[in-house]
Amino acid sequence: VRILVCVKRVPAPGARINVTDDGQAVETAHLGFTTSPHEECAVEEAVQLAESNEGTVTVLTLGPAEAEEQLRYAASVGANEIVLIPTDPAAGGSLAWDPQRTAVALIEAIRGLEREHGSYDLILFGNESADSGGFQVGIRVACGLGRPVVNGIKDVALADEGATVVARRAVDAGFEVYRLPTPCVLGVKEGINLPRYPTMKGRLASKKVELIKAEPGDVSGGGQRSIRLHRPEETVSTTEILGEGSGDVETAAAKVVDLLEELGVLP
Ligand SMILES: Cc1cc2nc3c(=O)[nH]c(=O)nc-3n(C[C@H](O)[C@H](O)[C@H](O)COP(=O)(O)OP(=O)(O)OC[C@H]3O[C@@H](n4cnc5c(N)ncnc54)[C@H](O)[C@@H]3O)c2cc1C
Repeated sequence: VRILVCVKRVPAPGARINVTDDGQAVETAHLGFTTSPHEECAVEEAVQLAESNEGTVTVLTLGPAEAEEQLRYAASVGANEIVLIPTDPAAGGSLAWDPQRTAVALIEAIRGLEREHGSYDLILFGNESADSGGFQVGIRVACGLGRPVVNGIKDVALADEGATVVARRAVDAGFEVYRLPTPCVLGVKEGINLPRYPTMKGRLASKKVELIKAEPGDVSGGGQRSIRLHRPEETVSTTEILGEGSGDVETAAAKVVDLLEELGVLP
């Protein structure tokens, strides 16, 4: 089985995000970067499927040259091939926010890779990216390639000797089960597995994996353009524990009643 995983380089969670003075980009000078959690799980899922089905895993990203770091990380946990579609952040500017252009660039690169090495049975995306969270790119790539797609997947298995993918999506009442003919596309969600940490051997091996560069092709289409980024006002929230320190239930209960009266929810 041949599996491709598309990942995005995103600022590490918890970082304070600042915007450049011209409001056109995120200030990256003091930021750490990582791969979105859904996509880390997508890589892990692909590696597990490949391990049990004699498969290969290719990991692809569109981003700046520094995104090689995220690709090497994927290689350190088991990806066999890593592919970068390099972007020029200065040239990308307002175009960089358009999911359609991103999808077109990915489709172009996937077609090129498939012409050379054969079709991918399964293409995995994250449910959504951890920074801009558009929920768009995977679905647009699947439509562009004319392949079936399901998002929000929490379980994947191969059936019919790899001709079918069985994917389960968690819903309020349980699971929806989808049977998709390969080749197909899935967006997976964090929690589908517990991603492994790279071993020292894996880290060393990842340095030797060849970095393949792909061309973004013509990304002049699309229609979204960013105007200006700004940091939202920080909201300070406080928590008050009613009756804290009083040690008795009556005091706490009386305070709850006072609060409900204050909110006007009591008759
Ligand atoms: C001309 C141009 C220049 C760009 N320059 C940069 C840049 O310098 N730095 C940068 O980080 N991004 C760059 N991008 C990509 C862009 O910032 C976003 O990745 C894109 O708009 C995705 O939007 P989203 O985060 O809402 O993704 P969503 O729709 O939420 O993503 C869904 C899933 O799609 C996949 N995905 C998303 N983005 C990518 C990606 N870039 N590569 C591989 N898979 C992906 C992931 O699996 C993700 O979980 C550029 C895009 C273009 C067209």
